[in-house]
Amino acid sequence: MRILTVSDFNIALAAEALKSGLLVAFPTETVYGLGADGFNPTALARVFEVKNRPRFDPLIIHIARVEGLELAADLDLLEKESRQKTGLLCENLWPGPLTLILPKKREVPELATAGLATVAVRLPDHPAAQKLIALSTGAVAAPSANPFGRLSPTRADHVRDQLGDRVDLILDGGRTRVGVESTVLDMTGPSPRILRPGGVPQERIEALIGPVESPPGQGGPVSAPGQLKSHYAPRTPLTLHHPEEMAALTYEAGTGCLFFRGASRDRWLRYIPGAGPFPGIRVLSEEGNTSEAAANLFDILHQLDRLGLSRIRAEEAPLFGLGPAINDRLRKAAAREPSED
Ligand code: AMP
Ligand code: MG
Repeated sequence: MRILTVSDFNIALAAEALKSGLLVAFPTETVYGLGADGFNPTALARVFEVKNRPRFDPLIIHIARVEGLELAADLDLLEKESRQKTGLLCENLWPGPLTLILPKKREVPELATAGLATVAVRLPDHPAAQKLIALSTGAVAAPSANPFGRLSPTRADHVRDQLGDRVDLILDGGRTRVGVESTVLDMTGPSPRILRPGGVPQERIEALIGPVESPPGQGGPVSAPGQLKSHYAPRTPLTLHHPEEMAALTYEAGTGCLFFRGASRDRWLRYIPGAGPFPGIRVLSEEGNTSEAAANLFDILHQLDRLGLSRIRAEEAPLFGLGPAINDRLRKAAAREPSED
C-alpha cells in the first residue's frame, strides 16, 4: 500500500489505478472513501472483501458532476413530483453530503446495489475527489474506508491503521471537513424519506422540497444498513447519556467522558473533587456548534479508543443541525455487542 499526498499528478496516478481495477482510498468532505470503479464487478467484489462488508449492504456511487447522474440513475422512472424534487436537490445541495436513492440504470452491476432496483448516488464536495472520479470512469463506488461496523476514517492514517495493505493506494488530503457520512434520502417512494441522518440537516432538505419522512426508529426492517443497530463502533464499550445524567456522573478512573459542549464539561468538573488532569476527557465542540462537533466526532473517538479505557460515556447532541447525525452514530456505537471483536 502506498500513501500519496493529493496533487494533480498523484490524482491522475490514482485514477489509472482505479481504471485497472485497484482500490484507492480517497478524501471526500464527509469521510475517506474506499474507491473502486463502479462498473467493474471484480473491483466491487474486492471492496466487500476488504471491508468485510455483507453483500446485502449496497454501495454509494460517487460522480464528478451533476450530469454524471445519468451514468447510474434513470430519472425517467421517477414520478413527476419526485423528479422535480430530485432536480431541486441536485441543483441546490450538490456537490455535498447528500446521497439520493434513485431508480438504477441497467449498466450498474448488481453487486454495487446488492441486487436492488435502486442505486445510491452522490456528488462529493471535494476537489480531489471530483478530479479523481472525472479522470476515471466517472462513477466510483466508495463506502467508508474502514472495516464494516467500525469507526469511520476522517484522516489518511485512520485508513492506514484500519485497512493497511488491504488497500492498494491512499490519497492523503488531510482531515475531512464535515466528518460524518452523507444524509441518505430515498426519492423512489411516494414521498422522500431519510434512511440515514448525515451531513445535510433535515431542515435544509425540507426548506427546499417540503416535508420528508425522518429515519425510522430502531427495530424496523433494514432498508439501509446504516440502520443496522451496531455500527460506527469503537473497540471500547460506549454508553450514551442525557446532558443532565452526564453532569451527575461520578469520576471513575479508566472511564472516558465525551462531552458535547465545553459548558457541560465545566459543569461536571465543578463537582469533581481534585483538579485533574483527567485523561480521556474530551469535548466535541467548545461552543456547542453541531457542525464543528460532527467534524471532530470520529477523530476524537479514534483518539479515545487508543487510550485503553474500560468505557466511554458520551453526552447526547441537541436535536438540530447535525445533532441527529451525531446521535445516530453514537447510538450505533453504543449498540455494539461486547463480544463482537
Ligand atoms: P456507506 O457508504 O458505508 O456510508 O453506506 C452507504 C449507505 O447507503 C448504507 O446505509 C446503504 O444501505 C445505503 N444505500 C446504498 N444504496 C442503497 C439503496 N439502493 N437503497 C437504500 N439504501 C442504500
Ligand atoms: Mg460506512
